Amino acid sequence: MVNHIKDVLKYGKDMLSKNDISTREARMLLALAMNISSNDLIKYTECTDGEYKIYQSYIERRCSGEPYAYIVGKKEFMKLDFLVNKNVLIPREDTEILVLEAIKRCPTKVLDMCTGSGCIAISLAKYINGAEVDAADISSPALTVAKKNAKLNDVSVKFIKSDLFENVNDKYDMIVSNPPYIRKADLKELQKEVKQEPKKALDGGEDGLVFYDRILHDAKKHLKKNGVILFEIGYDQAKDVTALAKKYNYKKVKKIKDLSNNDRVIIVEG
Ligand code: GLN
Repeated sequence: MVNHIKDVLKYGKDMLSKNDISTREARMLLALAMNISSNDLIKYTECTDGEYKIYQSYIERRCSGEPYAYIVGKKEFMKLDFLVNKNVLIPREDTEILVLEAIKRCPTKVLDMCTGSGCIAISLAKYINGAEVDAADISSPALTVAKKNAKLNDVSVKFIKSDLFENVNDKYDMIVSNPPYIRKADLKELQKEVKQEPKKALDGGEDGLVFYDRILHDAKKHLKKNGVILFEIGYDQAKDVTALAKKYNYKKVKKIKDLSNNDRVIIVEG
């Protein structure tokens, strides 16, 4: 059977649009199935039966709500490539704000708590000359992904399997974290794509603040003099996280907004 690219793409676009997914992905997924770049697709008029079959499976997965990044198996963050799978949250553009703030402060020894794919820790190791970067996570499968990402990006990061600070022994001049922060009740309202991401990486307990509370409490022992904590927060959590920082007697708290003018990062001075 001859599979004309234009018919194959029409099938993909129809399926995607029926499921309210951008039809732009039809070309991207076909290029992936054919193992070529999207730009090169224009050079082809047909694809093989095998490629068409793979394409159909990609389209079906995407239509069932699987995020595009999981199908391609990678996501760009801070202009670097990161491998992703169902064991890690997909890096978000919003999180680049946290990384940029951290880079500005040029820390020499940093801990990324709840590292997931490792995107924050690895970006810091890549962009801050000479920084010593440690990264902790409770999830072994996530750490497996993070280690591959460090290798892929040619940086050295020390990964620690740990329930928050349980196995962390050092002191740092900066602790960064994008912990799970979605309120339990809001988990069921998430987009269907987000629902396929690891719940453990999203669930911030009843009030969404469980991890900020625990990290702020335990970080005291792990901050050097004049050390800082940088948190990513949900758009409506600045007040609550600031109150927690006050409760634990941190000196100063500063908020940073994202490009949509939402509070996105909290900087806590130790
Ligand atoms: N920003 C993510 C979302 O909105 C949540 C990330 C997190 O819980 N750390 O889905």
